[in-house]
This record gives sequence, C-alpha cells and structure tokens, in this order.
Amino acid sequence: MDNLENIYFFITLISVTITILSLRYTITIKRYIEQFRIVSKKVSNKEFHTRLNISAKGQLGELTNNFNYMIEKMGDNIEAVEYKHLQLKSILKSISHGILAIDINGNILLINDEAKKIIQANLDQTIEGQNIATAIKEEKILKEISKFRGSNTNEKSRLTMEDGTVYTIKVDPVYLQNTVNVIIGSIINIENITEKVKLENMRSDFVANVTHELKTPLTSISGFVETLRLNENLDTQTRNRFLAIIESESDRLKRLIDDILLLSAIENTESRVLEKINLYDTFNEVKDMLSYIAKNKDIDFSHEFLDQSLYVISNRDYIKQIFLNLTENAIKYTPEHGQVKVIVGSNGKDIILQVIDNGIGIPKEDIQRIFERFYRVDKARSRDVGGTGLGLAITKHIVKSLNGKIEVKSELNKGSEFTVTIPKKIS
Ligand code: ADP
Repeated sequence: MDNLENIYFFITLISVTITILSLRYTITIKRYIEQFRIVSKKVSNKEFHTRLNISAKGQLGELTNNFNYMIEKMGDNIEAVEYKHLQLKSILKSISHGILAIDINGNILLINDEAKKIIQANLDQTIEGQNIATAIKEEKILKEISKFRGSNTNEKSRLTMEDGTVYTIKVDPVYLQNTVNVIIGSIINIENITEKVKLENMRSDFVANVTHELKTPLTSISGFVETLRLNENLDTQTRNRFLAIIESESDRLKRLIDDILLLSAIENTESRVLEKINLYDTFNEVKDMLSYIAKNKDIDFSHEFLDQSLYVISNRDYIKQIFLNLTENAIKYTPEHGQVKVIVGSNGKDIILQVIDNGIGIPKEDIQRIFERFYRVDKARSRDVGGTGLGLAITKHIVKSLNGKIEVKSELNKGSEFTVTIPKKIS
C-alpha cells in the first residue's frame, strides 16, 4: 500500500512539474510572439530602425537574429529604391521637355510636369495609371501619340496647335530587357519649339529682305556701269549724272551693310564692351553733324538737358546710335523750316529721352510696324532721304539691351514724339 502511495505521489509530482514547466514555456513563447507582432507591425509602418529585443538561445535565438537582419536589409533596400525614385523624379522634373512613358496599351507609367502642362492636366493630379485616351485632353497630341504607339521604330513629327504653338513629338520604343523585338511601351518626348520656329522664320525673312535690299542698288549700279561702258560717246553731263547715281547707290549699299553689321553686333551680346557713359557728352558728339543737316533744311533744332550728369552703362556707340537714329529721322521726316527738339531728363528711377518733331507724322496703321526691320511707311521717301529701314530696329534693340522701352506718339502731318525710357543703373 505504501508503495502504491509512493507511486501516486511521484506521478503527481511529475505532472505538476510538467504543468509548471509548460506554463512557463507558454508564457515565454506568448511574450516572444507578442514582441514579433509589435515589431512586425512597426516594420509594416516603415519603422525600419526597430529590432526584436529577445535574448534567447537555440532556434528561437537564431530566428530572432534572422528576423532582425531581415528588417535591416529591408530598410536598406527600401531606402535605396526611394532614393532612386527621388533621383528619377528630380531628373524628370528638371527636363524642360515633356516626357511621358506609356505601356503597350497606352497606360501612363511615368509623366513629368512639363508633359502634364502640355496635355492640359492638373499638376497635382496623379496621371500615372490612366490611359492616354482619357488623360490627354489635346486631341491633336493624342492622335499623334496613338498613331505611333507600339511602333518599333523611332518616330518624329511636328504639330502646330490652334493657338500657334508648335511641338515636336518624338516617340521611341521601349524593348523588354535583353530583347530586340519585344516592345513593352514607348517613351514620348514633347518639345515646345514655337520660339525656335519663330526665330527660324525671322531669320529666313531677314535673309530674304537683306538679299532684296542689297540687290536693288547693285542692279542699279551694274545697269549704269553697263550703259557707260556701251556708250562711250555720252555727253559729259549725262555721264556725270550716271556717275552720281552710281555713287549714291554705292553709298546706300555701304549704309545698308553698316546697319546690318551693327544689328548683328547688337545681337551678339558677348562682344559688347560696357562703360559708364555720360548722356550729355554723347549727345554733344552727334549734335554737330545733326545741326549741319538741320541747318541745310532750315530746321529749328534745339535740345534741353534737364540733368547733365545722367549716365548709363552701355557701349558708347550704341548710345550714339539712339540719338543719331531718332534725331536724324526727326530731321529727315520734317519738312523745311520745321522744328526738332531733343529733351533728356529723369523721373528718379528712369532716364527719359525724347525726340519731338512737327514733321510729316506716321499713319496710325503703320505705327506698330515701324520698328520692324526694313519697314518703311513710304519706301520712295525713305530712299530719297537715304534711309535703310533699319534705324528704328537698331534703336529698339539697343534700348531693349538696356532693359528699357521705346514708345511713339504720332499724328499724320502734325509730327511725332519718340520717348525712350531706360532704368537708371547705379554700378
Ligand atoms: P529709315 O531708314 O527708312 O528711316 P527707320 O527704321 O529709321 O528707317 O524708320 C522706319 C520708318 O519709320 C521710316 O521709313 C519712316 O517711314 C518712319 N519714321 C521714323 N521716324 C519718323 C519720324 N520722326 N517722322 C515720320 N516718320 C518716321
């Protein structure tokens, strides 16, 4: 009986010990699981600095170490991916062209702000994921891109929009990595070339105009030279008349070439030598020459410098040109016995230069155009007074280079008033 009791007691002791040990183990495991739960939740919230703080040995210890290592690696990888994404976004943002990446079905994978502006999308709107058919509001652009979608060659086209904006659209295929024939999408590059096209047109118009302007005196010169050569017995008077025409046409050619060279020099800002120029002194340098022309027409030519110590930072020849072109025009386009006045002063922040005449004036419809190269209200009259049609274009360019503006008020047969405003620069 004693023996049986002993066995029972022993069994009970073992059972209690096992139960206590199991309980302890379960509590520990539960604590560890709780830690795993908390840490994994933090990781899913991108808190990659968090770690399991379990000092266990054996398999649990190994699991803990592996888990912590995994978190660290995941953190590093995600940081690298985010950095790459940020880099890509910054690069795309700083590209001045519109860039758009689409998949083979026309779904937008990537788009930069410039492209968003071009397709008239809201900058804050997420366009990625949308199809071009719904995202691109500009019908013409959509049609052009759709035409080339999936093409396996590099395509390029030029589009002129209703408002005159000109775009070039380049579509390049994107191949599946390591293949040369599996296309997975396209990269679209949209560039606004409106200004470039405008400049191209201006340049070709200018070349056409220059050619025409140079051709006229040249034709005249060669015609009279030919006449002189074929008619050796011409009387002296006729001969001298022809020679005078040749001389005046040669002068005109020279003036034209000088003006064209000056215009191109003004456009070439790099070669500009800047200095501090006193306006009163500069005006006096051109005054004598102009007074002589005015005197020949009995024109009352006067000037008024309200401040003789006004300076601008520019090229000396350019400032001379402003005075010369405006005042010479005023004298040229004012009939005999008329009046021409130059007034220079300042309003504190700007220098104001005015050239006023009571000459022939400019018709309303021509006022906007007189600053264009080679534009003349009356070609024959301009030619008679030795004009090239470039004087005001040159003046406007110079004034623009000084950040100033030029305005004109004029009334036909009453006179004209040209006003140049240049901001004062203290340097
Ligand atoms: P141009 O060499 O023919 O004078 P400009 O460029 O200096 O060329 O002037 C362009 C045109 O503007 C002139 O041909 C002339 O018709 C008109 N114009 C300029 N200044 C005056 C003025 N003070 N009075 C009347 N017309 C003017």
